[in-house]
Amino acid sequence: MMSRGLQLWNEPVFTDNFQMEAEGGAVVGIVSDGELLLTTEINAALRQYKGMLEELQKYNTPGKLRNLKMSQGDAISALSARDAIARAEDLVSLVRNVQSLTTYLAEAQGNLPPHHPWSNAAAAARRTLIDEVRRFGRGAAGARPETAMTGDLQRLKNDYIAAYATLHREAVLGAGDDERRRGLYDDPRLKAMDAMATIDLLGKNTGELDGWKEAIRSIPTCREFHEGLVASSPTCPSCHYRPSQRQTSSPAASILANLDDRLTTLHANWRRALRSNLESDAARASLANMPMERAPVDAFLAGSDDDPTLPAGFANAATTALRGLEALPIQVADVVAALENGGLPCTVDEFKDRFDEFVRATMRGHDPRGTRLTLERSVAQILAAAD
Ligand SMILES: [Zn+2]
Repeated sequence: MMSRGLQLWNEPVFTDNFQMEAEGGAVVGIVSDGELLLTTEINAALRQYKGMLEELQKYNTPGKLRNLKMSQGDAISALSARDAIARAEDLVSLVRNVQSLTTYLAEAQGNLPPHHPWSNAAAAARRTLIDEVRRFGRGAAGARPETAMTGDLQRLKNDYIAAYATLHREAVLGAGDDERRRGLYDDPRLKAMDAMATIDLLGKNTGELDGWKEAIRSIPTCREFHEGLVASSPTCPSCHYRPSQRQTSSPAASILANLDDRLTTLHANWRRALRSNLESDAARASLANMPMERAPVDAFLAGSDDDPTLPAGFANAATTALRGLEALPIQVADVVAALENGGLPCTVDEFKDRFDEFVRATMRGHDPRGTRLTLERSVAQILAAAD
């Protein structure tokens, strides 16, 4: 039967199955909370009309036609059956005509978070449409014309495009911000940090720099987006952005600005760490033995910590000067685990004891004068901090 498979916005147009579940007794209540539309009336009309047509075919000669017996009542009920069939045809055509809009809107519903105001409006519009189509199918009075229904759906689609465009522009970098991001790839601070990362003492700490690079790479970008791109399909074909699946909560442009600030901080921190280590007794002793090669180190120490450039040959000279120092990396998670060991909340003294014990255990087998501790964070932690 044609009507069984008729679907509208992911719901069967005919409610027979809902009814049957209730009659079966296994399922309590009717599944549909809206209007009902049963196929039985149309099926009866179809059977009656088919029977009449078959009957009429027997009278295939004028002679036989003289024997045709058809009462006025038979004719009226045949005509009303024909009306029911015509209405069923109109129903199928109505459903076909709104289908491209409802298919779009159903996918759009999956794209926006459930708490978005548009999602509520869409759920309400869906209920209204399905109920209205079922009333139309029953031949109930007061059904609105098809253009009124498609007008509502078109407005809902336009609202979606506006909402999606707003979210897209917030969560995804456009052309201008992408230029800024590309500018950061060539930033002198980043080039200086790449050079500093070749110094053994800092090289053990490059997780932080790798995390920064990963964070800036992972900001989604879509240079082509405009509203017209989501006119025929609700997901941007260029970047496939789906707001309901978004991991981060800050606007992409402010994540980029945070990472720019973060680069300034990291760069200054690395320079400060190098300065303090190059001024240590161990480094001074090394520098005293390298009268020819120490010039870049002296230039570095004379410079400011926010200078984005490094003296030529600095990384090699610093590596030599810092050879007596060993970097000992500590995982941030291990520090936290050590502080938590024994239970929280705890007293100030307990907290200090746990930390001291952790440092003692970490330093076992290492000479404190020649050891420099450094923290390592996972890329995920660095990404979370950027959001
Ligand atoms: Zn896009």
